[in-house]
Order: sequence, then C-alpha cells, then structure tokens
Amino acid sequence: MRKPDVIIAGGGIIGLMTGWMLARAGVGVTVIDAGAPAATLAAAGMLSPSFENALHGGGGALAAFSQESLRRWREIAPELMEVSGVDLDFDAGGILAVAFDDFEAAAFAADAGGGDYLDRAEALAFEPSLSSSVRAAWFAKNDGQVDPRRARKALERALIHDGGALIRGKRVAGVARYVGNVAGVILDNGERLSARHVVIAAGARVDGVANLPKGAVFPVKGEALAIARVAGAPKRVIRTGKAYLCPKADGRIVIGASEIKDDWSLNPDERRIGALHACAMAAVPALEDAPEIERWAGLRPATKDGAPVIGPAPEGPDGLFYALGHYRNGVLLAPATADAVAAFIQRGRLSPSIAAFSAARFT
Ligand SMILES: Cc1cc2nc3c(=O)[nH]c(=O)nc-3n(C[C@H](O)[C@H](O)[C@H](O)COP(=O)(O)OP(=O)(O)OC[C@H]3O[C@@H](n4cnc5c(N)ncnc54)[C@H](O)[C@@H]3O)c2cc1C
Repeated sequence: MRKPDVIIAGGGIIGLMTGWMLARAGVGVTVIDAGAPAATLAAAGMLSPSFENALHGGGGALAAFSQESLRRWREIAPELMEVSGVDLDFDAGGILAVAFDDFEAAAFAADAGGGDYLDRAEALAFEPSLSSSVRAAWFAKNDGQVDPRRARKALERALIHDGGALIRGKRVAGVARYVGNVAGVILDNGERLSARHVVIAAGARVDGVANLPKGAVFPVKGEALAIARVAGAPKRVIRTGKAYLCPKADGRIVIGASEIKDDWSLNPDERRIGALHACAMAAVPALEDAPEIERWAGLRPATKDGAPVIGPAPEGPDGLFYALGHYRNGVLLAPATADAVAAFIQRGRLSPSIAAFSAARFT
C-alpha cells in the first residue's frame, strides 16, 4: 500500500470508481467508508443517458457529461472485470421506453432524438413480452445497464489490486487543515490521517464533511423491488412513464422506483411498492405471477437543479474536492466523475466538462 496522497470519504460507486482510477494511475489513495447504507446498493444500474436526458430536461453540460460517462463505461467495463474477476453483468444492448397512451406516443414520435421510434406493431415484434395495449416505443440502442452491487464489489477488489487501500466501518468526521491547505481527515474516533487531497464522495450524508450551504445536497428516497425472471420475461430493460424493469443475469428483474424528497427512512412502503409492481405488470403481463425476491429503499443524493457537485471546494481549503449529488444517475456518471477528479489531482487540470457542476453555483 502506498502512502496516501488522496483520501476519499465514501465508498459508494463514486468514491470507489474515483479511488480505482487514481490507484491504477499510480496515485496513493485510501477510500474510507462509514458503512452507512449506500445508494449504490439500492440502484437499478441503468446507464440511460438518452432516456434520462429526454425525460428530465437535463440539457447542456449534464447531457454531454452523461453521454461521455456511458462511453467510458464501455471502455472500462472489460478492464474492471478482468482486474477484479467479477462479472459486472454489463449490458450495452439498449433500453426500450414504451408508451401506453397517445400523449406519450406522440411525444416519442415528435422527438426520437437519441433513439429509434417504433410504432405499435414494431414495438410488439421487437419486444414480444410487452402488453398488447402498448401504443409506441422508443429504443435507445446505445443505453445499457450494469449490476451496481457487482460493480461495487468489483471496484473494491480493483482498488486494492492496483495498490489503493480501503478502510471500512470508519466515518470521516471532518477535514484537517494546515493554513489554507488540506492536511488530511479526522475520523469520528478522533484519529487523524494525513493526505494532500481529500475527496468527499459521501452520497446524501454530507453534513459536517462538506462545506456546502444547508440543503444543497438532500436525500430523495427511492423504493424498488425484485421479482424472479420467469418465462416470458423481457430480454432488455423496459421503461414506462411510471416504472422500469431491469432483467439481471442473476435471475432477478429489478422494478423501480419511487421518489420521495427529504425522507431519510429506509423502509419500503407497502402501497408504493404495490403501485410500482402494478405499473410493471401492466407493461409486461407475463410477469404477474413471478415471485417477489426482495424489496428495498435507498437515498439518492440530490441537488436543487438535478446536477451533481463536482469540483474543488470553492471556499477551500486547497486540496478539498467534492464529488457529490449524482441523484438518479450516480452509477452512470461514476466514470466521467472519476476521470474529472483524477485529472484535477494528477495534473491540476479542471476539466471543462465539470465547469457547470461547481458548488459555487449554490452560493
Ligand atoms: C431505487 C434507486 C434506483 C436507482 N437507479 C439508478 C440507476 O438505474 N442508474 C443510476 O445511474 N443511478 C441510479 N440510482 C442513483 C444512484 O444509486 C446514486 O446516484 C449513486 O449510488 C450515488 O453514489 P455515491 O457513491 O455518491 O453515494 P452512495 O452510494 O450513497 O455511497 C456513499 C458512501 O459514503 C459513505 N459515507 C457517508 N458518509 C461518510 C463519511 N462521513 N465518512 C466515510 N464514509 C461515508 C456511506 O457509507 C456510503 O457507502 C438509483 C438510486 C436509487 C435509490
């Protein structure tokens, strides 16, 4: 293990991807994870820039950053699998968005940018598991998915394989300073660890470790469930306006997800899980009797404008960097985020791709 030049607070997909990128470039890096429930383990793992950008109007800088990150996933997935020995269940085979009313169908027909428009007959031929009440579909052929639980495991292994360190079960309570510079971190047991750079990648739990205006990053609870992948199941990810279904290699179909702002609880609500299930069954009726395997909830780290916070801490100290607030798309955005952090730490270069994501926009 090299002497840490960089300490990363948070071992979710953002902290670990960043840690691995730095370690494989020969930088001494330690990732410290508090062991709090990570949103990463709750995610469906869709890598869906086309659909997310169209749906949520995240134009401009975020749309470009999302596409770049998807491109990087395609590049790094084979290497990550090889180094870690973990099969990521990486699938770059496209995502199908389906419309069940004329309004949605008209929207697909009007703007198929980034995807192929399919009329009702074409949609049913393309994905026979769909309900016959489908009106139209939109196939984003470049989008895909990964299993985020496997990705986290793979990144932990790859980080260590490439010379980084991982400390589990300890919380970073604060950033240590020397004059105007970062000196390291203070753990909640009072222990101090030194480093020249500290990256805060703590997901939704940023209070105390990031010097951000109150409420700049807040939780949006998401509930999901998984059912068994039975005969007649869809071959690819299907998204409707109200739910999505992600078939996984381990035999699950992940169905998600609700959005509840500022709710820190982690218990899935019976009624909302039932509603998600009903929406998914309306799209793919053959799954009606598929047994439920599990249900869960996670906390998306959200920001007011829906864009992440990536960049040096505007108020200092020098050496403090934020990689936070990835909201609905942290799995997708992890490689591009890690690239940007690594470029800054290794070469002092602030990538133009993250200029719009500075925490300065909140002050
Ligand atoms: C139901 C659901 C579905 C989703 N689906 C998708 C999807 O399909 N595609 C997609 O791209 N994204 C999806 N997301 C969003 C995605 O999960 C998040 O954007 C992403 O996981 C955020 O990663 P993170 O590393 O920032 O945070 P987290 O995964 O929450 O990790 C933060 C880590 O920091 C640690 N930590 C916290 N405080 C400290 C501290 N002080 N010191 C040390 N460690 C600390 C915690 O223990 C935790 O492990 C989904 C989210 C949910 C809830």
